[in-house]
Amino acid sequence: MVDYFQMEALLTVEERSFRDKVRKFVDEECTPLIATHFDSGTFPVELIPRMTETSLFGLHVDGYGCKKASHTIYGLICQELGRCDSGLRAMVSVQNSLVMYPIHAFGSEEQKIRWLPKMARGELVGCFGLSEPDFGSNPSGMMSSAVKQKNHYLLNGTKMWITNGSIAHVALVWAKMDDEIRVFLVEAGTPGFQATLIQRKFSYRTSPTSLLIMKDCAIPEGNILPGAKGLKSVLSCLNYARYGVACSALGSAVACYEAAEPFTRKREIFEKPIASYQLVQEKLVRMVLEITKAQLLTFHLGRLMDQDKAKPPEISMAKMNNVREAMKIARMARDILGARGILADHHVIRHLCDLEAMSTLEGTESIHTLIIGQDLTGISAFH
Ligand SMILES: Cc1cc2nc3c(=O)[nH]c(=O)nc-3n(C[C@H](O)[C@H](O)[C@H](O)COP(=O)(O)OP(=O)(O)OC[C@H]3O[C@@H](n4cnc5c(N)ncnc54)[C@H](O)[C@@H]3O)c2cc1C
Repeated sequence: MVDYFQMEALLTVEERSFRDKVRKFVDEECTPLIATHFDSGTFPVELIPRMTETSLFGLHVDGYGCKKASHTIYGLICQELGRCDSGLRAMVSVQNSLVMYPIHAFGSEEQKIRWLPKMARGELVGCFGLSEPDFGSNPSGMMSSAVKQKNHYLLNGTKMWITNGSIAHVALVWAKMDDEIRVFLVEAGTPGFQATLIQRKFSYRTSPTSLLIMKDCAIPEGNILPGAKGLKSVLSCLNYARYGVACSALGSAVACYEAAEPFTRKREIFEKPIASYQLVQEKLVRMVLEITKAQLLTFHLGRLMDQDKAKPPEISMAKMNNVREAMKIARMARDILGARGILADHHVIRHLCDLEAMSTLEGTESIHTLIIGQDLTGISAFH
């Protein structure tokens, strides 16, 4: 695996051992079947019990059947899963950062006891419904609404692009109540609630991206997370998820390099391996340079998060940089592989397609640029 700056030595024994366990799971059980699922546009649900056995759920939570891992370990897990497939990584990230974390951070004791142990065991899957057809980069404008009734909440609205939506047992749906953003646990099967798979996607094909429609859904009083109020609560979840995307993109970049580099030594053109041509070497060097920079950035960010010192704009910088550079690396790898580069069996084209979605989800490059710009200047250029 690419490690040009000998970063392996910076990892603790525990970090290496968790990473190696996930790496083995990915290489032996996920990668062999992922191209077929990408082709058919299906999520490999059969891997969920094995994800549980690999301890991939409940990583931000202590207690309630969960064992908290450091952010550094979480980042390594996302890199390994992302090295295989972004849809797999997204499933794990959403369950951890966007469902279990908010239930633990903002839920009542009863809610934690009811949901977290089953989620840690992979028996229940969740999704995070924030984006709407007309409100993605600007979630504060959301139209979804909840109205307090005598003994329930009446929820209406539409959520779009929701990862895990159609396989989820429960959706965390953000909606405005009395002009304040709140979040509700909407259980699958609730009358008026519908989760439909979005079809004909050319990116994130293994991920069940869904449309959620809530029409006069009666949500029990016990299904509002009492501690989540306003955009600040939303953003605290997104910080973890954005870090997950940054790590996943780095995993994609590594996978693309690992597919291209051995090929350059095997493939002979004009009677020499293409690795012997300066133009090809330059591409390999650029790939390793950007992978190394992303590894250093991501590793340090994980350590800052572990010390509770990371600022959201720093997370933005990692997300923005890693996705952007991974896209360039995937394109170079695709080019090196020649025609083979478009085959799912060589994996690079899958990563390239998935990185297109990753450049949008969890905040576009423009949005992260504005976040960092505001941090540097003190002036918001969003509006
Ligand atoms: C595969 C996938 C999975 C997803 N999973 C989830 C999920 O699980 N839950 C969830 O809630 N959402 C999810 N999303 C939605 C994602 O978060 C949104 O797509 C994202 O926030 C961007 O919103 P949008 O698509 O509406 O784009 P828009 O907000 O409409 O942006 C369109 C363009 O305008 C630009 N733009 C916007 N504002 C500005 C500005 N102020 N200045 C300059 N340019 C600007 C953007 O950068 C972009 O280029 C997912 C999306 C995808 C593709």
